[in-house]
Amino acid sequence: MSTVHCEEVVRLLWRYMDRELDPDTYRRLQEHVRQCRNCGPRHEFEARLRSIIQEKCAGQPAPEALRRRVMALLQEL
Ligand SMILES: [Zn+2]
Repeated sequence: MSTVHCEEVVRLLWRYMDRELDPDTYRRLQEHVRQCRNCGPRHEFEARLRSIIQEKCAGQPAPEALRRRVMALLQEL
């Protein structure tokens, strides 16, 4: 089991959060993030940032113009 370096965590952090890594790499990163004083807070920050972005994007209503176009299309049917 090789050691994970901080640079590797930075490079793979988003894929790590998306669980796109193979289980072995994922476990090694998880272990590192838990123990590393740099990567722990960094991961925390990125995770929070991402959840904010996802919240904002998912909760957004369809733009008015698009909604009107859909309504118009529906009325034509
Ligand atoms: Zn680190």
